[in-house]
Amino acid sequence: MELLLVVLSISLQLNSTKMNDKKRQQIAWYKENQPLGKSLGYPDCCIQEFCDQPPSWMKGRNPSKDDKRRMNAATLAGWFTGFVPCSDHAKQIVAGKLNLEDLIENRDTKWFLFPMENF
Ligand SMILES: [Zn+2]
Repeated sequence: MELLLVVLSISLQLNSTKMNDKKRQQIAWYKENQPLGKSLGYPDCCIQEFCDQPPSWMKGRNPSKDDKRRMNAATLAGWFTGFVPCSDHAKQIVAGKLNLEDLIENRDTKWFLFPMENF
């Protein structure tokens, strides 16, 4: 009985360490990318979703239908813009109800215009 409790407690600790690592990684990723996304003029919902799913987590898993749609929405005439919109915005873009560039607001002038000026 005591042994079982020890095993249970160790496995709970391991689980929470794993979760904390993931959470820490997510927080670090957010701190790094949130100000960048803001400066690039991306909407909060899209920044949040991008930060919730660091690209390193997507490697090694098959892209879901949603991943593909978001990547599709991030691409203009075969050019990957680097701006991956959130699921909701990706749906609207793919349905032709919205343009990716319409989502950009208050972009810092130090960046190139979106999409590229000569695009
Ligand atoms: Zn969005």
